[in-house]
Amino acid sequence: MTSRSLLRLALAGAVTSGAVLLATLPADASKAPPSTVPVRLLALNDFHGHLEPPTGSSGRMVDEHGQTVDAGGAAYVAAHMKALADPNTIAVAQGDLIGATPLISAAYHDEPSIEFMDKLGLKVAAVGNHEFDEGYAELRRIMDGGCHPVDGCSPAGEWKGAKFDYVGANVLFKNPNEKTDALSALGAKQSEVKQLLADWGVPALPPVSVKWMNGVPIGFIGLVTQTTPSIVTTEGIKDLKFVDEVKAANVASKLLKLVGVKAQVVLVHEGDQVTTGQSPDACSAIPGVGNRIATQVDAEVDLVLSGHSHQAYLCKVKDPAGNDRVYSQGGSFGRVITQVDMNVNVRTRDIERASVVADNHVVTRTVAPDPEISAFVQTWKNRVGPVANKPVGTITTDVANMAAPSGETPLGDLIADAQLAATKTGGNAQIALMNPGGVREPLTYATSPANEGDGVVTYGEAFATQPFNNLMQVVTLTGAQLKTVLEQQFTGGPNNQAFTKILQPSANFTYTYSRSAAWGSKVSNMKIDGVPVTDAQTIRVAANNFLVGGGDAFVAFRDGTELWSGPLDIDAFVDYLGANSPTAPPATNRITVID
Ligand SMILES: [Zn+2]
Repeated sequence: MTSRSLLRLALAGAVTSGAVLLATLPADASKAPPSTVPVRLLALNDFHGHLEPPTGSSGRMVDEHGQTVDAGGAAYVAAHMKALADPNTIAVAQGDLIGATPLISAAYHDEPSIEFMDKLGLKVAAVGNHEFDEGYAELRRIMDGGCHPVDGCSPAGEWKGAKFDYVGANVLFKNPNEKTDALSALGAKQSEVKQLLADWGVPALPPVSVKWMNGVPIGFIGLVTQTTPSIVTTEGIKDLKFVDEVKAANVASKLLKLVGVKAQVVLVHEGDQVTTGQSPDACSAIPGVGNRIATQVDAEVDLVLSGHSHQAYLCKVKDPAGNDRVYSQGGSFGRVITQVDMNVNVRTRDIERASVVADNHVVTRTVAPDPEISAFVQTWKNRVGPVANKPVGTITTDVANMAAPSGETPLGDLIADAQLAATKTGGNAQIALMNPGGVREPLTYATSPANEGDGVVTYGEAFATQPFNNLMQVVTLTGAQLKTVLEQQFTGGPNNQAFTKILQPSANFTYTYSRSAAWGSKVSNMKIDGVPVTDAQTIRVAANNFLVGGGDAFVAFRDGTELWSGPLDIDAFVDYLGANSPTAPPATNRITVID
């Protein structure tokens, strides 16, 4: 595999470590060498390509004083990073740097966002689920370089690959005979290491990365949510398996220890929820899947920096040996930088736990934006401008993606209406259903960059609402199968829905659900155009290819027959806005909720 293999770095580090330590001894032997050296980490997570300052609620953050302030934007991230960085700093990230990104990044397969991370001096990042949005092969291209196989090179020329290391210890090949760069990097003498990995499986990504700072090696273990297969499109990851995060971290931790790396940091793309409006430095993380990882990974791991849930928190949890361990997350969209300071003992090469101090900094916009990054973002803005600034329609007022008590959002409903309109002809769709997680940014009346304040929706804004470039599809379901799909919105079923996820229905489809009824009998009174749906009737249902493939644990979609593929979801939405301007936000009255 490649010369950038992180394992090779780890092994090289182990071999040369003695020499490095000697070299750091002061010339005056009467002075004792320092027993510890300082290391600072600056961490970002869930940047999602937000090179431009995010708008609406996505661009606001509650700060340490309880004030809601504007936050985020690459030039501000860079300015804050520069101010916070000292000579002991290693910049790291916890995944979802790319994927589900605004057009400025997405139009170029997120190369601009990766280049920005390189400019920030990022050294190591865990992969997130969204790093797999365009499939494993595309992730490898982003890591290793080369032009896009379909769209070719970007206006910046041939892609050179990320300068930082993407790591993912729990991403394995399903096929035990698959060739892996991680294994080929191991020397013959490293039999213990080789055996450890052979017993474990074939890594599809480097599991760890080792970075040296002040003469000590710091090992970073990458992890991504094991739920990734249910939240990304199946086709692109069909050769991979995503295994238990704790088990994988513990193998990676052993691996690091075998090569002499005891200062260990987990970068995990999985996390917990918090109390709304809390300080970014508070820990009211409701213990969940992230907390499980933070408390259960091997006691050799000194820190757990997390992501995925887009929340900001700083917690101290107990590791399995009963010692304090920092567990943090830094919100999303470049709105928070997590700073961790610590001392590493030069003799034991371990992090002195008592020395660890963590702080979440809000990336405010009251500082001067970094001029180099401002110019960089402007370059890409100019490139994408002719496409992004093209008006596609108008809205009468904000179209929010805040959920009504039923779980419907005005924007989700609007997108479903657009999807039905685009699939009636050709696909013979009768209703449409949109996954709520695919609705990303609200449509705001006043923030169109080209047409401030007149309700114009540009292509760039329309794209930001649902930036996945999914394909619209239509399948035939029976009334009974459609009811099963709707039951699968709720937790408690055999499909293992982790959270209740209410699909956004097109206007002509109405039904009722009961909060208190048992799973399997929550949904009733389904009607299409006011006509009751029977179990036996067949219905042509439009949804994006992610849902049709059983995404978000809606496995009943896979029972659909007579698959038809239509336009991209963004094209459906843009056409609908164009044909229905000015568009008013739909009333969220399609689903009735009873107790
Ligand atoms: Zn994620």
